[in-house]
Order: sequence, then C-alpha cells, then structure tokens
Amino acid sequence: MTKEELWKAVLGEMELSLSKANFTTWFKNTSILANEGVLVIVGVPNGFIKEWLENKFHKQILTSIQTFSPEIREIKYTIGNSLPQSTIKKDFSQFITERVFENKQPADINPQTNLNKKYSFDSFIVGSHNELAHAASSAVAKNLGKAYNPLFIYGGVGLGKTHLLQATGNKILEDDPTKKVLYIPSERITAEIVESVRNKNVEELKSRYAKLDMLIVDDIQFIAGKEKTQDIFFATFNELYGKNKQIILSSDRPPKAIPALEERLRSRFEGGMIADINIPDFETRLAILKLKTKQKDIILDENVLGYIATNIQKNIRELEGALNRIIAVSQIYNKTLDVKEVKKLLATYLSTPYKKTTPQLILKSVSDFYNISPSDLIKRSRKKEVVRPRQIAMYLLREETKSSFPEIGQKLGGRDHSTVIHAYEKVKTEEETDEITKQEIVLIKERIYQSFDK
Ligand code: ADP
Ligand code: MG
Repeated sequence: MTKEELWKAVLGEMELSLSKANFTTWFKNTSILANEGVLVIVGVPNGFIKEWLENKFHKQILTSIQTFSPEIREIKYTIGNSLPQSTIKKDFSQFITERVFENKQPADINPQTNLNKKYSFDSFIVGSHNELAHAASSAVAKNLGKAYNPLFIYGGVGLGKTHLLQATGNKILEDDPTKKVLYIPSERITAEIVESVRNKNVEELKSRYAKLDMLIVDDIQFIAGKEKTQDIFFATFNELYGKNKQIILSSDRPPKAIPALEERLRSRFEGGMIADINIPDFETRLAILKLKTKQKDIILDENVLGYIATNIQKNIRELEGALNRIIAVSQIYNKTLDVKEVKKLLATYLSTPYKKTTPQLILKSVSDFYNISPSDLIKRSRKKEVVRPRQIAMYLLREETKSSFPEIGQKLGGRDHSTVIHAYEKVKTEEETDEITKQEIVLIKERIYQSFDK
C-alpha cells in the first residue's frame, strides 16, 4: 500500500464515523508526508487543525491506521504539505534519531575482546580529576602485569571509568595485537559463572580466563553478595595474578566501601594500585565539550559551550547528552543557537536529569507504545506481542536508569537476571543493526522525555 492509499483508507473510515461537516473541517487537505514503517508523518493545513487531530482524533486515527498497517506505532502531525527542506536532505532515520538527546553512533565492538574502538587515550581529556587514574592506566598499558596489579579505578556514574578501562585495552592491542585481552562488565561475568555452574563446566570457564594476558572487569561492585561467583572469581583472579597477568577493575566506590564483598577479595583488590576519578573542574568540562564538538565536526559558540560547562557539572555523560541535544535542535532548525535559546532548551534537561527517569515511567511509555497494558510486561506470558516489548523494557530500564540486571528482573515479575542480560544484549545489537528497532527506541525515549516536560 502506498502512503496515499493508506491515508485514503484511513479517511474512508474517519468519514464513516463523523458528520460531513466535521469530517471536512478536520480532514480536508491532510495527507501522509512520510511513512517510515513505525512512524508516519501527517501534514495538516494549520496549527489549529494540528492541535485538534493531536488531542481529539489521535487515538482513532492510530487505531484506524493500524488496521491497515499494524507496524505503525506513532503518528506525528506537522503543518504543511511537504516536509521541511532540511528533513528531506537528510536520511530520515537520522532526522528522528537526532531528535532525542543522544545520537548514538553505531558501536564498533570487537566480539573477541568486547572492546569498543571509540574509547581511546586520544579521545580522553586529562584533568586534575582523573590525572592519577589516567597515569596509572597508561603505566599499565606500557608495562603489562608489572606496573600495578591489580589496577582498581573507582568513581561516580558517567565520569569516565569505562572509557579509561577500554582505552587501556585498546592501547595494548594496538601495540601488540597478539595479546589476549578481555573486557567484561561484572554482571556478564557473573552470568557466565552462574551458567557454567549450572552446566557443570566451571573448569572450562576457568581455563578460558586463565589464557588471558589482561582481564578487565567493569563495575565489579555488582559481584558483591554473590557467594559462588566470588568464589570462582577469586580462583580466576589468583591464577592470573600468579602468572603476572594484568587485571583491571572498576567500581563506583573503593573496595572497602563495597558491602558484602568477601574479605579475601577486598584485600586482593587493595593489593595493587587504587585510583579514583572525581568530578571534573570547569576548564576540563569545557575541554571535553570542545573535543566532542571537534569529533562531530561542528562549531558551537564559545559562550554556549561555557553555558553548558557551567551548568552540568557532575556527570560527563550528561554533558555529552546536553551537547547532542543542542546539536540536534540546531540541525533540525538549520540555525546556530545563542545562549538564550540554549538556556531555554536545557531548562527541562537540567531540572530533570535522566536519573529521575523512573522505572514506572519507562514501563508505562513502553506499554503505551505497544498498546498493551503495563501488567502484560510483568506477567508470565510468552506471547509474541508481549515478549518483544518486555525485552525492549528491559533494555531501556538498563540504559535509562542504570538499574542492575537482577533489579530489572525483579521489577519485571521476578525474572532471572540471565534472561535480562540476554534481552539487553539482543536489543542492543538490534538497535545497532536494525532500522525498525532503532526507530522504535527513539520514539519510546521521546515519550519518556516528553512526559518530563509536562
Ligand atoms: P562511567 O563508566 O564512569 O560511568 P563512561 O566511561 O561511560 O563513565 O563515560 C561517560 C561518557 O563520558 C562517555 O561517552 C565517555 O567517552 C565520556 N568521557 C568521560 N570522561 C571523559 C574524558 N576525560 N574525556 C573525554 N570523554 C570522556
Ligand atoms: Mg561504566
């Protein structure tokens, strides 16, 4: 069905349910400007009609359009009978991707090492907040297993731990591609251990790890409280350590502050070098913003960068998010923004950082989007209509609230964390490779953040 045929069919249905005068008033001179599978854009003659369609007829139009094209999830209304020039110029999916705060680039992850090439020392700004951690990591990269072992890096969310860990791994492979390096988040290693216990092949797992030259475990704090996992991890740690193989760990807090961490592990973690990462100062925040704009090949007013650096202080990920949002908006409207406009744009962002995204809001946005009820996400059902939304919900809970995998499993009806990890990784891959999934996630995120604005 072409988009013209689709709209004609929808109009046919609407006409049947409305009086002639009503139908003419609201639907004359409307058309579908773009049909992108998940999203359609409907052009309307003026703002008044746009508002009415959005507020009074949206549900009905959506239901009708879905009877002809079930994959459509979202309708946007725009004034005019063609899309703005700037939209047409661009790849459409890029256009909507840019409309959310983070415009993610496709990940370039090596399946052998789990390392992402984008994290390098070159793209890492050094300031007084991370000087020690950076120096220790560079020393490790130059002198594997001999400088500091283990190296333990800790600091708050979004301050560059993962970046530094991965940069170290990448540097080692760059200097010597024969080295065996593995980067793994602690939740994944936990899942692997649990799985190997279940399948009775712990020894195989241990020997796989024993072959490494460097093991990097990110967010090790999540290992706490898991007895069997700590047991096996301890053995692996000792094996590598005994052979002078490098171990790097990160955590959101120092070893002594991780509750329910076994004493023998704590003392091992404290046995090498401990380096912290703090909150960057203004100069460093500005330098990071400048580097990111340079990477994106974009020039922004110095005052605008200064404004962002002044107002977002505690989290580099948020700093980048704000920058991406400004870039997206200035591209959509095809103009450079001044400080006043940026201030307005970031007002909602600043008052509602993503930390405040609640799991409830995410579950509601996902279930609304897929037209199911939030309780369907929690129930045991394996029906296709709910399995996929549930996986998407798991993914978004992880990405947007940084909940741990077991917490997410708990929220979704007491599911096992390995199920959550599986879902997370599946959706993550799909988001990078599948256009429809990418669009769906963009649109759901828009819903989440729009509810903030209200
Ligand atoms: P953490 O693991 O501590 O939560 P990340 O390493 O994921 O934080 O960093 C969050 C974002 O900020 C990443 O996109 C990362 O590239 C960026 N970032 C953090 N520190 C720096 C830095 N010093 N220079 C450049 N980018 C940084
Ligand atoms: Mg991290």
